[in-house]
Amino acid sequence: MLYELCENNGIGYRKCGKLIAATDENNIEELEKLLEKGKENGIEGLGILSRQEVKKLEPEVEVKAALFSTSTGIVDSYGLMKYFLSKAKDNGVEVAYNSKVVGIEKVANKYKVTIQYPNEDFSFLTRILINSAGLNSDKIAELAGVDIDKAGYRLHYCKGEYFSIAKHKFIKKLIYPIPEPKSGGHGIHVGFNLEGRLRLGPNARWVDKVDHKIDESQKQDFYNSAKAFLPSLQYEDLEPDFVGIRPKLQSPEEENVKDFVIRNEYDKDLGEMINLIGIESPGLTASPAIAKYVKNMVDEIF
Ligand SMILES: Cc1cc2nc3c(=O)[nH]c(=O)nc-3n(C[C@H](O)[C@H](O)[C@H](O)COP(=O)(O)OP(=O)(O)OC[C@H]3O[C@@H](n4cnc5c(N)ncnc54)[C@H](O)[C@@H]3O)c2cc1C
Repeated sequence: MLYELCENNGIGYRKCGKLIAATDENNIEELEKLLEKGKENGIEGLGILSRQEVKKLEPEVEVKAALFSTSTGIVDSYGLMKYFLSKAKDNGVEVAYNSKVVGIEKVANKYKVTIQYPNEDFSFLTRILINSAGLNSDKIAELAGVDIDKAGYRLHYCKGEYFSIAKHKFIKKLIYPIPEPKSGGHGIHVGFNLEGRLRLGPNARWVDKVDHKIDESQKQDFYNSAKAFLPSLQYEDLEPDFVGIRPKLQSPEEENVKDFVIRNEYDKDLGEMINLIGIESPGLTASPAIAKYVKNMVDEIF
């Protein structure tokens, strides 16, 4: 859906493909498992490549074998956001910037939402409340009366830092290590933007609070992870870049990855509240599909 949306609306993207690298013979079995899982999920254009086949595609990359996904790509995320904003405005949406939801109260069959605004607070009434507050989505659900521990909505934060690679390298495909689901991320990988600026990341570090400071002492870890499949990488090439925080439904102690939640809470005697909780990756890629899914839920209410 995202490729189609980008193509039809002039949003920058590139179907560059992705390699998941096995740097050890023992990991090739993992690639086969990923291949099977991908096929089960209906992903087309997957295949395992030998070291020589990878070398032909990416001469700077050193692996024993790799899983090649031809359908993976990158998108101009800012261009996509701008498109969503202008489309929403065309459809009559009003955006309230610098406005914090601080109260949600059930009034008859509606919700009264109280907003803290720099100059004065205000409130509005709505029959349907959609909560897509990202890192605060659990708190918003709690404000509306959801027992977030019972519902399993309490969020845990997992920081993802990026380092840019200062020197240009001729890498045309995203290069990922084999994922370790328990780590909270997909492993530090080589990515790039549409202009070809290379970066490494994100890592995955569980944190107690949200802060967007980059910890430069992580540089060695980034270097070691990527050096395994990019031998020409030099430590000095890495520079701190940016940080994002993932809202996770599973805690660091939990083994299994928990998928995000999109749910109408009417059965909790709460009225028509649609909660989107723990929307982490691939929330951006899936955003048109999530929007359609939520729209269908709203249509069912009317
Ligand atoms: C490191 C990292 C890498 C990622 N990589 C990918 C990737 O490769 N592919 C992919 O598809 N996705 C990726 N994602 C995930 C993707 O970025 C998210 O899924 C997506 O941005 C979630 O969008 P959202 O609108 O649900 O939440 P957000 O973008 O967090 O938006 C929530 C909004 O709610 C507002 N808000 C919060 N609290 C309140 C309040 N009390 N009152 C009023 N407003 C409030 C916030 O200000 C914000 O504007 C990545 C995320 C991270 C952190």
